[in-house]
Amino acid sequence: MPRTSTLPEAETSGPALFESWGRYPNYRGNLVPLNWQSDFPAAVEGLHNGALPVGMGRSYGDVCLLKDGNLLVTTGMNRLLDFDPATGVLTAESGITLAQILDFAVPRGFFLPVTPGTKYVTLGGAIANDIHGKNHEVAGSFGNHVPSFELVRSDGSRRLCSSTENPDWFAATIGGMGLTGLITWAQLRLKPIVSRSIDYEGIQFHGIDEFLALKDQYKHVEYTVSWVDCVSTGNNFARGIFMAGDHSKTPGPLTQTPEPKLSLPFDLPGFLLNSTTVSLFNTAFFHKQIKPHVANPVDYEPFFYPLDKVLHWNRGYGKNGLLQFQYAIPWEHAKEGTIAILHEIAKSGLASFLAVLKTFGEIPSLGMMSFPLAGIMFALDFPIKANISFPLMQRLGDMTREFGGRLYSAKDACMTPEQFQAFYPQWEKFARYRDPMFTSSFWERVTGETPTL
Ligand SMILES: Cc1cc2nc3c(=O)[nH]c(=O)nc-3n(C[C@H](O)[C@H](O)[C@H](O)COP(=O)(O)OP(=O)(O)OC[C@H]3O[C@@H](n4cnc5c(N)ncnc54)[C@H](O)[C@@H]3O)c2cc1C
Repeated sequence: MPRTSTLPEAETSGPALFESWGRYPNYRGNLVPLNWQSDFPAAVEGLHNGALPVGMGRSYGDVCLLKDGNLLVTTGMNRLLDFDPATGVLTAESGITLAQILDFAVPRGFFLPVTPGTKYVTLGGAIANDIHGKNHEVAGSFGNHVPSFELVRSDGSRRLCSSTENPDWFAATIGGMGLTGLITWAQLRLKPIVSRSIDYEGIQFHGIDEFLALKDQYKHVEYTVSWVDCVSTGNNFARGIFMAGDHSKTPGPLTQTPEPKLSLPFDLPGFLLNSTTVSLFNTAFFHKQIKPHVANPVDYEPFFYPLDKVLHWNRGYGKNGLLQFQYAIPWEHAKEGTIAILHEIAKSGLASFLAVLKTFGEIPSLGMMSFPLAGIMFALDFPIKANISFPLMQRLGDMTREFGGRLYSAKDACMTPEQFQAFYPQWEKFARYRDPMFTSSFWERVTGETPTL
């Protein structure tokens, strides 16, 4: 497959910095590129300090980092192995990106069953975090569309995993944060489309009640997501834009997407992002949609991947990086929890403009450690300001816990061990499936466990 120009910069082998998308924390590791499925475990023979597979480093915190350990860089292992147009089932090596899958699939009339807000993630990374998209209510999470994969352990043993073969390893590896072994290849069930176009509707809302009413009104639409203004208070508290879309049913072009041209080549000074600039941006964004309700066709790229237009946009937060806070709170406390947390965020004056509100549906995830649960999901980026950001993250994590919710490990750099173990009480059962050589800075931070090889 052609390689995208957006691979992590750490492409060589040997000691180097491998950054996650949040660029915090910041650790060096020993890069071990895997180009062939047979490279592992031979490539780590004689190496110490543990190992962790990594894809595009599009997780935000330290789930894809291992301080001073060996990072198995999978992006060279990106071959397409098989595709059956009758069933839509594609088989590929785990380092292929969703962007590469789209380049292959869209011209043939197929689309990803679930996609995150960036297409620059690998198939292996999507399974290991059991990612979710704007269609969680109707499609569940990514693992629900993975019929099978191969898992290779550091002792060289290979397991074919599916819901019927090695089902416990299948469940532990979906959402297993790369800790159960290396996924070498996987199958993915694609869905048919007849056009690149999305039938889009954007509706302004004011407050969580209006957001919830829109969610019910649009439950027949496959994709829904909302941008919410986390800075404004008073009458404008929790105003936002509810965005809904379905794949167009009218046949239209099915061409490939050209490579993005814009890139942020250097770090912007962190002070550019302050409460005044964010407030101005939020007001402009809310009113960019002049009418309260618009309906028009849009291409799938700006609908699913608006941020991919500017490569390395994370540099806009300056060299300190950013933190992401992302929770899911079950319906029982979803509304009160969301209102309380939004008030706390507005009070802090630290919110950025990248805030996403959506609901998760009832389809259970197949992963033992998967994040989604039926209720409200909210995600927000924060710039890092040493004395304010970390205490705020701790407070927001505690509030999430009080409301019975949990945080998303793929986006986390701040969860305490107490919080993690309360959010994921099954963690000790999961730990029995961890490869003795595999660990991550995240895992060591929230459990204290270290590799035994
Ligand atoms: C702009 C943006 C928007 C996003 N939107 C969403 C969203 O809407 N929904 C969502 O769920 N997530 C979202 N994410 C997060 C992202 O989808 C996940 O973090 C994803 O897992 C990143 O994949 P990656 O290839 O970059 O993997 P990495 O970040 O490099 O690694 C992620 C995890 O996968 C493991 N892993 C990677 N490859 C393998 C393998 N071959 N075998 C075993 N384990 C492996 C790693 O060990 C690590 O634990 C977003 C991220 C960004 C930057």
